[in-house]
Amino acid sequence: MKNTTLRSLIAVSSLVPATTVAADTASVTQTSFGRLRDGREASLYSLVNANGMKADVTNYGAIIVRLFTPDRAGRMDDVVLGYNSLEEYVAATPYFGAIVGRYGNRIAKGKFTVDGQTYSLATNNDPGGLLCHLHGGRVGFDKVLWSAEPLLVDNTPGLKLRYSSKDGEEGYPGNLDITVHYWLGNDNAFKIEYLATTDKATPVNLTQHSYFNLKGEGRGDILGHVLTLKASRTTPVDAGLIPTGKFAPVAGTPFDFTTPHSIGERVNAKDDQVKFGGGYDHNWVLDNQTGQLALAASVFEPSSGRTMEVWTQEPGIQFYCGNFLDGSNVGKSGRPYHHRTGLCLETQHYPDSPNQPNFPSTVLRPGAKYQTSTIYKFSAK
Ligand code: BGC
Repeated sequence: MKNTTLRSLIAVSSLVPATTVAADTASVTQTSFGRLRDGREASLYSLVNANGMKADVTNYGAIIVRLFTPDRAGRMDDVVLGYNSLEEYVAATPYFGAIVGRYGNRIAKGKFTVDGQTYSLATNNDPGGLLCHLHGGRVGFDKVLWSAEPLLVDNTPGLKLRYSSKDGEEGYPGNLDITVHYWLGNDNAFKIEYLATTDKATPVNLTQHSYFNLKGEGRGDILGHVLTLKASRTTPVDAGLIPTGKFAPVAGTPFDFTTPHSIGERVNAKDDQVKFGGGYDHNWVLDNQTGQLALAASVFEPSSGRTMEVWTQEPGIQFYCGNFLDGSNVGKSGRPYHHRTGLCLETQHYPDSPNQPNFPSTVLRPGAKYQTSTIYKFSAK
């Protein structure tokens, strides 16, 4: 594919929070998003596609800050949770919009063994009072400054983000070079392409941690969103949200989204798995994954008419319905994000794979390429 960087099209403009954006021609603009305490500057890149759909992305944490998509009347709303400023992301965020890694989700006790050598990672999370490593540790990929290069290829705006994670970072072995491409297609699909290489065997499991609310961020809970998951099994967890290593059929349980169900319908069901997650916070095993892009999930929001489809090459998807949101994070429109006001659909390998011999391996070796894509595609009716 021709990979042309059109720096001439990158203009510096003042940031106007727009609710409607019109554009026949796609564009990428770059503005400052403020400075980190060490003086380094973060940028905000606005990707606008030919339909006027807009994604604002910062290279701090590779965070999707805003994502405007049309409802059934063509009205643009920002459908992701987040903040207006870099300072707020640095101060406290439950991974709003970020790329998480080196290992998305949990590794039991922060320990794993590769090729006979045991590694200890930062333990930064303790659901059920049980310590584990979550989303890459204390300073995961969501808290680092990535280098960024705006792209415009065949009228499709994009952003190339790169980060080099050092040998020993958060306890992981090997220098890992990561490239993430974001593309905002003219079919209203937001595509994420991940690529990584290493010089020592290491587990890798990257994902995107956007919280979606298809009514628009700050507009209440997501319990009326109607979800379908192409998955007939989950990987059940213990009280510490660590997989037991077994696979459980969803049939006849509150986890059966093989046909559409509203999230609220069974989220408070009396069920041990629901109890451990405080609602849905589990990995579903996707059916029919062959390594190619396949439809994994679809969410419909009745009042706006918006639908989001999730396509991925990954074998699993973590559906988390914002159970830990408690109103302490005040979002972009000045409204607190209360319990279950955003949902995450994180495409991934299964949690704790490095310690689970029954799960597909997440170990990347020198000479091999970690390469995977996920698409969030928007429409309305
Ligand atoms: C996890 C939750 C966690 C959340 C952090 C999700 O991916 O599954 O358990 O609390 O991320 O915001």
